[in-house]
Amino acid sequence: MPFTSTLDILKDARSRKYGVGAYNVLSLDQAAAIIRLSNTLEAPVLITVPAVLEKYVSFSDLGAITREVAAKVSIPVGLHLSHGKDIATMHRCIDAGFTSVMIDGSALPFDENVKITREAADLCHSHGIACEGELGAVGSTTGEVKSTMTDPEEARRYVEATGIDIFAVSIGNAHGFYKGVPKLDFERFRQIKAALSSRPDVYFTLHGGTGISPEDLKRLIAEGCPKICIYTEMCGAGKEKAFDYLARHPEYIGTTDVPELFRAVFEGFLDVVRFDIETFGSAGKATPGSTYSGDVNASMIEAIVRDVIKKINL
Ligand SMILES: [Zn+2]
Repeated sequence: MPFTSTLDILKDARSRKYGVGAYNVLSLDQAAAIIRLSNTLEAPVLITVPAVLEKYVSFSDLGAITREVAAKVSIPVGLHLSHGKDIATMHRCIDAGFTSVMIDGSALPFDENVKITREAADLCHSHGIACEGELGAVGSTTGEVKSTMTDPEEARRYVEATGIDIFAVSIGNAHGFYKGVPKLDFERFRQIKAALSSRPDVYFTLHGGTGISPEDLKRLIAEGCPKICIYTEMCGAGKEKAFDYLARHPEYIGTTDVPELFRAVFEGFLDVVRFDIETFGSAGKATPGSTYSGDVNASMIEAIVRDVIKKINL
């Protein structure tokens, strides 16, 4: 089906208490493979690209290809930008037909975060798409980026002042592989939810889903966080499969059989997606013909899609 609005996908997920995987991709074929697997399992899906990966994958190509593949399957598919740092990046995503974008001002002082997020949200809304913001920093497990927990009262002021639709919370989660077992602060999540009780139109998201136990993820989804971001786990599994392939095929060294190596990496990626779809309870939830409102910005994007397809000779 055509692209589905990110908010429609999240609305269905929250009301039926399942989670939607927001899978970061770094190539066009990775996006296509995740959509096809999700379709096989009848699971709604969000394809996500972090702004830092723009040097590896063109947003306009990703927009065009994801839209083409989505049109061939029967599940809801949305396309989302993660951790955008400036308004120019938002524009490139909007031009490429993304169904939602994230502005990440979490490293800024509160007032500056509010200012840039408000600008991003206004821009998104003027194009009919959703905006995600972050308050309290989801740091990295390596310690390069420090984590700060989301404060419930600040969260209320932030959401009110910015008009965001999706809210990334920091409740013990972090990007990368955790050292030890991460502990989500469910009490803090409850307090944040209570502070935002007058805004049921805002959806929560968890970044740094890798390494959090399936039990905790299920609990968080059940308590009202429908969007779970996954990246590190896919990379780790892809790398492991590639190394495993090389160990089992020493004759590979010296050959040019790149496709086999790619296949091994993708096997790792897709193993993670398959596992997560089961964990999140999204398998079988993509009811064709349900209440999704359908394509966004279709007419604006058609010409871009045609151009890109011509350019890459599909
Ligand atoms: Zn993230």
